[in-house]
Amino acid sequence: MRIGFIGLGHMGLPMCRNLLAKGHAVKAWDVVPALVDKAVSLGAARATSVADCVAGAEAVVTMLPSSPHVRAVYAGPSGVIANAKPGTLLVDSSTIDPLTAREMAFDALAKGLPMVDAPVSGGTAGAEAATLTFMVGGAAKDFEPAKAILECMGRNIVHCGASGNGQVAKICNNMMLAVGMIATSEAMTLATALGMDPKVFAGIVNTSSGRCWSSDTYNPYPGVLDGVPASRGYTGGFGTDLMLKDLTLVTEAAKTARVPVLMGAVAQQVYQKHSADGHGGSDFSSVIIQYLKR
Ligand code: NAD
Repeated sequence: MRIGFIGLGHMGLPMCRNLLAKGHAVKAWDVVPALVDKAVSLGAARATSVADCVAGAEAVVTMLPSSPHVRAVYAGPSGVIANAKPGTLLVDSSTIDPLTAREMAFDALAKGLPMVDAPVSGGTAGAEAATLTFMVGGAAKDFEPAKAILECMGRNIVHCGASGNGQVAKICNNMMLAVGMIATSEAMTLATALGMDPKVFAGIVNTSSGRCWSSDTYNPYPGVLDGVPASRGYTGGFGTDLMLKDLTLVTEAAKTARVPVLMGAVAQQVYQKHSADGHGGSDFSSVIIQYLKR
């Protein structure tokens, strides 16, 4: 297929490379010229603007930082919706708020452009290895064609229901993850402060009812697990500022839906403090530092 790809950052560039590896003809665009150069060196064609990127495309994939960037790329006279030819399938894999995703899909459909939201989990490692999970929101008839493209970049492609539901799944999952990580950090720190060996305590938790992904797969306490960010100074992994962004999206969405998310709101503030303390670039499991340094 002829695919326009917009947003060649940490996730987008390897995703673009995997589309090329599967034989698609990709035309790439980013506001940073050096990133377009990199995509061209991988075999993509060079686009000179959003309009140029999407003009001859049969599908468009975007991987942008957040809602305002998605709006800037899709809306307006120089945007994707105004310049893609009718019938072009639009796939936005950015993590954004569900309402913006629904609004963009509505505006796209009005111009004859089917659009799905398809945020990912799996991080940069998943993007490199084409093992991402895609959570797809959109009409059932658009899911299969989107899946054919997404399978080049990921392993699990899940239809979550109507437009925006991919974003709903993504941000609600990450709210649980953040709350679980903070709870694990508190329990690990308290048990250790009260005299337990952290490895022994983690072992008990992981065969007991406190077990969660943050305790058994991604434990934040240094030295408990090998090969996790906690064992290498919280480098790599999923950044604090990306988690903070998702928590801000989910607490805003909860306000709109008038659903109380008390733990989610506390987690948003804990991560906001952690970022303000200078840990925005560290893996999100470094939130345990908020407790350990006391
Ligand atoms: P990034 O900042 O590295 O990349 C985004 C790219 O978009 C940048 O290269 C930027 O120049 C480009 N861009 C911004 N505005 C643009 C515009 N108007 N026109 C064209 N290009 C524009 O971000 P990332 O880490 O690749 O993440 C992308 C999305 O994926 C985010 O929504 C993020 O929340 C989500 N995500 C990231 C990870 C991760 O581990 N990095 C994991 C899961 C989901």
